Amino acid sequence: MSFPPIRPELAGIEPYGAPQLDVPVQLNVNENPYGPSEACLDDIAAAVCEAARDLNRYPDREFSALREGLAAYLNTDGGVGLTADNIWAANGSNEVMLQLLQAFGGPGRTAISFAPTYSMYPEYARDTHTTWVAGKRREDFALDIDAALGLIEAERPHVVLLPSPNNPTGTALPHDAISVLCEALGDEGLLVVDEAYGEFRREGTPSALELLPTHRNLVVSRTMSKAFAGAGLRLGYLAADPAILDAIRVVRLPYHLSTVTQATALAALRHADELLGKVDELRKERDETVGWLREKGLQVADSDANFALFGTFADRHAVWQGLLDRGVLIRETGPDGWLRVSIGTADEMNAFKNALTEVMKEQA
Ligand code: PMP
Repeated sequence: MSFPPIRPELAGIEPYGAPQLDVPVQLNVNENPYGPSEACLDDIAAAVCEAARDLNRYPDREFSALREGLAAYLNTDGGVGLTADNIWAANGSNEVMLQLLQAFGGPGRTAISFAPTYSMYPEYARDTHTTWVAGKRREDFALDIDAALGLIEAERPHVVLLPSPNNPTGTALPHDAISVLCEALGDEGLLVVDEAYGEFRREGTPSALELLPTHRNLVVSRTMSKAFAGAGLRLGYLAADPAILDAIRVVRLPYHLSTVTQATALAALRHADELLGKVDELRKERDETVGWLREKGLQVADSDANFALFGTFADRHAVWQGLLDRGVLIRETGPDGWLRVSIGTADEMNAFKNALTEVMKEQA
């Protein structure tokens, strides 16, 4: 018997995580490149200072003020009449979705998604002893609705995890797919639409939030990590039927959202307009980057997110390394031969374009 006595299926597994390297141009984990203003920082500092007076006490276990603030925000971005009773939050949307699988997955239960997709999903399943089944997306990375319905029929999953836009491809889900899948699942299963990148969706792409009043088995997950420029805050949340929240309450750890997190997130919400203020610029930069990559003769997946998946390269690792050698860190992820670049500032994207031009010349 080797030490420590870890669960056998976890032995030798590398922990998930992109390399955290100190390089000048960081375009690898889909962060917002713009930090908060001085006014926002002052407000956060004052709010945390005030909240810290009660640090000897446990936080509000129900984070009621924060749930109200998040409901009000969502009602400005596709939500219809959402209240605090519809909102749940945790330390990042990863934790929100893990809690969903703790409550709705488990031994003898199944969760599904469609590859290529977010690589943490199978880990939530593994960590909750939920059976994991991955179907496939179409060649263009869009969801094949007939194949999805077929997999639902075959597996009768308790949870379907579908990001919109999808990571790492950027592909958004069409609205009718969401309704059709919710109906196919019925009361036996939840459809979790993971809108971590929802605010970056292109004009005319609706949010799944609009469909919450029609489907009680629909859950929409969001995060403050991306468009909201709050990756360091660790605040993810979801909107759903209150009965779903009651199930999550059973598995959540007591006081999981610290006093400091709640105060910071509330202060950030007061500055929502400013923090989200760069979304349009990032969308424009994304569309320009996609156009530029295509002009270079590369394939690029259509993106509704703040990143672009491009390729294909015979040796993608060499391209990734060549960019890193020039101070530009992107992500080696997705299907073989593809790479993903997050959208940064105009200067950062110029550095990326210059570096990629050099690397491609070197490899030609
Ligand atoms: N969903 C998707 C599709 C993601 O790409 C990410 C982050 N990379 C997350 C959820 C989790 O983000 P967070 O825990 O920061 O909210």
